[in-house]
Amino acid sequence: MLFNSCSTNPVTGKKDVILMSEGQELAMGQQADPQIVAQFGMYDNPAIQRFIDEKGQKMAAISHRSNIKYDFKVLDSPVINAFAVPGGYVYFTRGIMAHFNNEAQFAGVLGHEIGHIAARHSAQQQSKSILAQVGLIAGMVIAPELAQFGDLASQGLGLLFLKFGRDDERESDQLGVEYSTKIGYDANQMADFFLTLQRKQEESGQSIPEFLSTHPDPGNRYTTVHQLAEQWQKKTNATNLEVGRNSYLRMIDGIVYGEDPKQGFVENQIFYHPELKFQFPIPQGWKYLNSPQAFQMAEPNGKAIMNLTLAPGTSLEDAARKTLEGYKLTAVESKNVTVNGNNALAMVADQQQEQGTIRTLTYFIQYGNNIYSVMGITTANDFNNYFNTFSGTMTNFKALTDQSKINKKPERVRIKTVANATTLSQALQSFGMPSNRLEELAVLNGMQLNDRVDKGMLIKVVAE
Ligand SMILES: [Zn+2]
Repeated sequence: MLFNSCSTNPVTGKKDVILMSEGQELAMGQQADPQIVAQFGMYDNPAIQRFIDEKGQKMAAISHRSNIKYDFKVLDSPVINAFAVPGGYVYFTRGIMAHFNNEAQFAGVLGHEIGHIAARHSAQQQSKSILAQVGLIAGMVIAPELAQFGDLASQGLGLLFLKFGRDDERESDQLGVEYSTKIGYDANQMADFFLTLQRKQEESGQSIPEFLSTHPDPGNRYTTVHQLAEQWQKKTNATNLEVGRNSYLRMIDGIVYGEDPKQGFVENQIFYHPELKFQFPIPQGWKYLNSPQAFQMAEPNGKAIMNLTLAPGTSLEDAARKTLEGYKLTAVESKNVTVNGNNALAMVADQQQEQGTIRTLTYFIQYGNNIYSVMGITTANDFNNYFNTFSGTMTNFKALTDQSKINKKPERVRIKTVANATTLSQALQSFGMPSNRLEELAVLNGMQLNDRVDKGMLIKVVAE
């Protein structure tokens, strides 16, 4: 039984039906935060961390909910996103930090996220998703009965992909304008950043940022935020509002752009891990998700998944035993094998569920100082269909020796000074940017290729 408790919404002053008390909300944030950090890793950059914390605390103090403690973090993910979880936790990815073109754009998004917390949107949303028993792993379509085999971070990931209602988003946009104006930034810049998000989405088809997810008409939102910005600037008699373009660009000079190969990367459907020095093939057509904790692969219809993780235990037998216990599996058969010269243990194990039997094939592979577990999971009925696919990946796990893969470096955003007044397109080419990446770089700069750039202006390029 769930007992609803009413609490007063800090923004509207009205009584809301919120299933969580503030204490529960804080506890949920404290529980989710380490999972989110484990899933993505922190992006280690003291200057950026100091900046987001300083602006974040300043804004939290003038928000409608200044009584709780706020925590601001940059996650090591190339995805362009920012999000808030209950209890005062706000996250920016390095991907979104690379795409802001000034402090004011950052401040608008910061205000939007603090707005979700202040108005207790995430609390409301989380209540709904608890009721709906939603627990899918990010970006993957997985049959519900298989979801438990996603790693422990799945709950944290569930939080990331919460969808807020359109009214919530509208309210957060308003609060973003209000808060960023109150700490001295020009909120018109926030509207401009929506255009960057929209172009990015069109360009790559990448997962929809939370800001846009429930907004069918970003153009309308753009106009609304511009109007709100003007209103708040009048209301607060704000003058000399800051944009902070050069200071922001200099701060992010050198930020990693796109995938960081050291965390593992995929090329031609092969996963390479340069630090742990192994590689294996991904089944054709399967989706995948890389994180510091696991590499997860899913058949497009969600009928089967495969996870590579570090196995618990000190020996292959110990790893197998701990895995059986951990997932409440019953061993069907197991045998010692070698995988490209590495000692390994192959095991088939079942789990009885109300809906039927889940069957797994796991290879525990001793390699370097670690034991890796590659577990393929499907129903007992489908197991024969997927057996060859599973073992195709598992038996092709091998040492990575190709130096070009081991030494692959990430790209970084580099800030350059325009030498002569010209177009953005010409300026980018003068810094050696290839023609097939000019549009991508225009988006990164929040400009059009035929926009004029002045002598002495700072622009972004990408380079190792
Ligand atoms: Zn939002």
